[in-house]
Formats: sequence, C-alpha cells, structure tokens
Amino acid sequence: MPVTVNSVASVSSVVDPVFRRMAARLLDGTAVANQIRAEAAPSVAAFTARAGRPPGIAIVLVGNDPASEIYVRAKLKSAADAGLRADLERLPNTASLEELLALVDRLNRSEVHDGILVQSPLPDLMGRDAERHVFDAIAPDKDVDGFHPVNVGRLVQGRATLAACTPSGVMELLERSDVRIAGARAVVIGRSDIVGKPMALLLLHRNATVTICHSRTADLPRVAASADILVAAIGRPAFVTRDFVRPGAVVVDVGTTQVNDRALVERLFPAGSKRREVFDRRASLVVGDVHPDVSDVAGALSPVPGGVGPLTIAMLLKNTVTAAIERAGWAG
Ligand code: NAP
Repeated sequence: MPVTVNSVASVSSVVDPVFRRMAARLLDGTAVANQIRAEAAPSVAAFTARAGRPPGIAIVLVGNDPASEIYVRAKLKSAADAGLRADLERLPNTASLEELLALVDRLNRSEVHDGILVQSPLPDLMGRDAERHVFDAIAPDKDVDGFHPVNVGRLVQGRATLAACTPSGVMELLERSDVRIAGARAVVIGRSDIVGKPMALLLLHRNATVTICHSRTADLPRVAASADILVAAIGRPAFVTRDFVRPGAVVVDVGTTQVNDRALVERLFPAGSKRREVFDRRASLVVGDVHPDVSDVAGALSPVPGGVGPLTIAMLLKNTVTAAIERAGWAG
C-alpha cells in the first residue's frame, strides 16, 4: 500500500549537495519539536497562574557518564526555556541502589515536582536489575518517561497514559508530516522496553499492521522491505542499508551511536559533506541506524541529528505538563 506523504512545512525534499542526486523527503524533527513546544506554552502559563507555581520536573543523574551529562543538560535547558521548574538531582557513581531509591521516594512526595526522570544507564556498580527497581519505584503519575509497568499496561490497553517519549515523538513526527498510518504495514526493528515495544504499540493503536524485528529475526532485510513505514531502533550505525527499504517507504531513524572510527565515517559520508566536516572538527560523530544511501530509495526519511532526538525532549516537556495538570485534577 503506498504511503501518502504530503508536502507540509516540516517536510522538504532535498538535493544532496555533493552528488546532486534527489534524496528522500526530510522528516524535520526539529521543526515538529518546536511546534510541540509552542503548543505547550499556553498550558504552562495557565497552570503556573492557577497553581501559583510552574510544572516541575526533577532529573536524577547518577555518576558522570559523558553522554548522559549532555542529554541531561539538554533536557534541563529545554524544560527551563519552556517555563518549567527543572531541578537536577545528582548522586555519585558510588551511590547505592538504596540511596537512589530514597531519593526517588523523596521526589515522589515532593509537592513541586510533577515529573521524575532517572537518566539511564545507571552505573554498573548498582547491579543488573537496578534500572527496573528504580523505574518501578517512581510514582506512576510522575513517570514522565512512561517506563512504569502501570503506564506500560495502560499503553498496551490503548488507554490515556504517560507514554515513552521517543516513540511518542516518532508518532508526532509521522502524523504532523501527514504520513498515512492506518492500514500501513509498519516494521519496527528493535524490541526494547523504552523504544521498540512502545513504538509498535503506538503504531498498532493507529491501525498500522505492525511487525517487530530483533536480533533473531530471520531474513531481516526482506521483512524490513515489506514496510510502508520502517522504524529503526537498533543502535548499530548505518545497519539499515538500501536493500532493507521498499522504494518510497517512510523511514524513521531512531538510532544514535557515537562513532570515533574515521574509516567508518569516511565510508559513510563523502569528503566535503557537512557530516565529514563535523567529524573533522570533533573527531566524533553521532550516526543513526540508517545508511545514508537509503535517502536515494526512501520516500521520506528522518535525519540524525535533527530527527527523533529533539522530539524526545519535546515529548518529555509535554508529558510533564500533562502530569502536572492530571495531578492537580484539572484535566478536561
Ligand atoms: P537496546 O535496548 O540496545 O535495543 C536494541 C534492539 O535492537 C534490541 O531489541 C536488539 O535485539 C535489536 N538489535 C540489535 N542488533 C540487531 C541486529 N543485528 N538485527 C536486528 N535487531 C538488532 O537499544 P534502545 O534503547 O532501544 O535504543 C536503540 C537506539 O535508539 C540506540 O542507538 C539509542 O541510542 C537510540 N535512542 C535514541 C533516542 C533519541 O532520542 N534519538 C532515544 C532512545 C534511544 P534483541 O532484543 O534481540 O537483542
């Protein structure tokens, strides 16, 4: 079934500046994220006026993983820019699981925090199941990441809930780019609790026919190439090559891998391209799961960076405002 992709402000056709070839329409996550933030502004102002305080989020960072530091800083800045109260709660790398659970308990009882986010990954020292314990301990009505089993259960049943930010952001990107989802064949590569599974459920609830793939899927390229909408959430740079993609399909690249391997970057991005310039400056580059050549085959494609990343942060704001309104009992 062909997927309709209309020309809207957030979708533009691009010509590769190096090869001068026609490329897939760009699904512009930054533009959609800006729309979502702008739409949330009146709700933030109204809540602040009525409650006498802004919606509040507490972000917990344990240790000092460099990537987590960057993500947390971006989330705090974005929340503060949107008029939210945004507090960073830090624990050292050596903190015990009990200390972290005590902090979560304090935040659960806080009057000024409507959302709690514990940044993953947690330090290995905390033990294998630490993340599950911690996510389970967050009060479901403050679980703005949507990881608590109560919220996951509500998502499975198609009820209103705080749903995981990254897949919710992908849905916003598809819907606001006028991608037809109902009746489409959707393939999600990746079955994690935070991306793959909720992504599949959200697509299913919009009446797509969904297939979930993983590392044991047989003949993955063939299954992927049956998709009208292909979502890659694997964490393997440029894994999804053009043979995974049906011509004209909509491809969403969730993957983000920090690549330091010059040879790999040189294989993926031609000399003179913007991506190569970034790598030459920083000796490191964030690369998605989708190979750049897919742009020649796909009908529409979300870029990395500037695709799903900004949407994840925008949905965190949206979930925090929703949690604040729900907790106050002011939801329509
Ligand atoms: P994850 O927990 O490591 O899950 C990866 C999934 O990919 C697993 O289900 C795994 O299958 C599957 N997989 C791995 N190798 C595969 C292969 N060769 N063939 C088929 N499937 C394979 O990762 P995640 O947390 O879901 O994140 C996925 C990617 O999204 C990462 O790059 C992450 O950084 C990125 N991400 C980006 C954002 C954003 O805001 N842009 C947010 C969240 C995550 P098995 O289950 O069989 O092992």
